[in-house]
Amino acid sequence: MTPEEAALFDGSFPASIVPGGEYHPPLPRLDPMLDAAPDGSASRSAEAVARRLRHQFDGRLHLPGETGYDLGRLAWRRDLDQQPLLVAEVADAADVARAVIAAREFDVPVGVQATGHGTVRPTDDGVLLNLSRMAYVDIDPVRATARVGGGARWGDVVAAAARFGLAPISGSSPAVGVAGYTLGGGVGWLSRRHGFAADSLLRAEVVTAAGNRLVAGPDDDVDLWWALRGGGGNFGVATELLLRLYPVGQVYGGVAYFPGERAGEILACHRDQAADLPDELTTALSLLRLPDAATVPEPLRGRTVVALRVCHTGPEAWGRRALAPLLAVAGPPLWGGYAPMTWPGAAAVLDDPQPRPQIVREHTDLFQGMSDELIDVLLAEIGGPGTNRSPISAINLRHVGGAMGRPLPDGGPSGHRDATYALIAIAPHLCAAQLPVARGYLAAFARRLRPYATGGVLLNLLSDPSRTMAAYRPADLGRLAALKRIYDPENIFHRNHNIPPGP
Ligand SMILES: Cc1cc2nc3c(=O)[nH]c(=O)nc-3n(C[C@H](O)[C@H](O)[C@H](O)COP(=O)(O)OP(=O)(O)OC[C@H]3O[C@@H](n4cnc5c(N)ncnc54)[C@H](O)[C@@H]3O)c2cc1C
Repeated sequence: MTPEEAALFDGSFPASIVPGGEYHPPLPRLDPMLDAAPDGSASRSAEAVARRLRHQFDGRLHLPGETGYDLGRLAWRRDLDQQPLLVAEVADAADVARAVIAAREFDVPVGVQATGHGTVRPTDDGVLLNLSRMAYVDIDPVRATARVGGGARWGDVVAAAARFGLAPISGSSPAVGVAGYTLGGGVGWLSRRHGFAADSLLRAEVVTAAGNRLVAGPDDDVDLWWALRGGGGNFGVATELLLRLYPVGQVYGGVAYFPGERAGEILACHRDQAADLPDELTTALSLLRLPDAATVPEPLRGRTVVALRVCHTGPEAWGRRALAPLLAVAGPPLWGGYAPMTWPGAAAVLDDPQPRPQIVREHTDLFQGMSDELIDVLLAEIGGPGTNRSPISAINLRHVGGAMGRPLPDGGPSGHRDATYALIAIAPHLCAAQLPVARGYLAAFARRLRPYATGGVLLNLLSDPSRTMAAYRPADLGRLAALKRIYDPENIFHRNHNIPPGP
């Protein structure tokens, strides 16, 4: 990865793709025509779309060969080397509408990207809308709301809201985009207490496939509002979102690592306690096979461990009490521990705040409870005999449920609300040559999990777009497909977790 690529995901973003800055490209600008395909067709089409837009576009257009093009099309999953016709770095909703209309005129698909963290299908030969400039954040402390641009990132919202003792339902990484995460449901450390992030979407402004600018909310376009709260990027481009915030004072939490030998008892104890754990307490268990590397704390090097991540938003004494049975079984940690901290502090320690863009393969499933047989399957995968050659080095189990498990009378299609655990098995930091092996291991693991899984998935945790339908209950899927037919009948927004228009 070049320093420019790294910077894109480091928070020190090149200024051309953040608001209000000038970007000085480190590489010489190339004439786009020099990069033309042998028959010149790709660049001519890009030029044609760009010509159509140029005179009425307030943002920037980046054609192949230009530095802004390569930065603007970068996906967090590095093997998704998307090759759009052009990157339209939109300045505002009017730009979004212009770019969508132009793409329709040229009959090319539209891809939407705020950060690239959730790109699951490449926007090849289409117009890629890059929303990273539309990143404003405006907190209303009296109404406890955040009004954010369609390209805002969670880190900025968390920091701005914390000044007023408020917090959004953000996820594990400050670099993840608010819109992509929220439209996909959104599960964070406050979700057991306050529900999916999508449940807190109060209103959205959207540019539809027809280029119309609509407002969706309880008093406006109610069907669209429903579809946006879990239906992903299928229904248009969200140019602005209004989100509910929640008061969060001190948090009791952190991460502690326990010997892998204790994993079976820790998992079983969590399973036995799960139904009684308060909504204020969110825990995540990770089975990790750690490398023998200097970057790993010495007591953990080369070991298989269980990481128990904890976030309790009530009084510290209640948090300690709720955790006590689990910690009694876990025994003394090898590393780490729990302490009172601020909410932004907790958000920073609970997860790797900026996981490196990488080539990664994952498998996700949902479970209602955790049988002894399932625990055996998990333990055999990490730490079992012969698994030291497996590319799967992390299995994360998030405890879901709580407020996410309670149906809302006017809730959207985010689901599934009946799950207790969301699992992600990860084969991280691969090189392209390792992909087939990693796929094989993950497919075999998925087969072993199948008898115990619900068959559902959480959309945001799903990197394989072919399983998109598994993210929804059948009735919701029918309604989503019917609404897709209304808002995007030609399915121009399909470079995503796609829901095709219904009949
Ligand atoms: C390191 C990391 C940590 C994560 N942690 C969590 C977590 O804790 N909880 C969780 O629920 N998910 C988590 N995710 C998943 C994440 O929520 C999804 O990948 C989400 O799609 C990312 O949105 P984005 O805008 O950052 O990504 P992008 O790649 O910019 O967008 C992804 C997709 O979202 C849609 N989209 C984005 N912006 C808009 C918009 N303005 N209007 C319409 N559609 C839009 C598009 O379909 C687009 O293809 C994580 C992902 C990563 C890589």
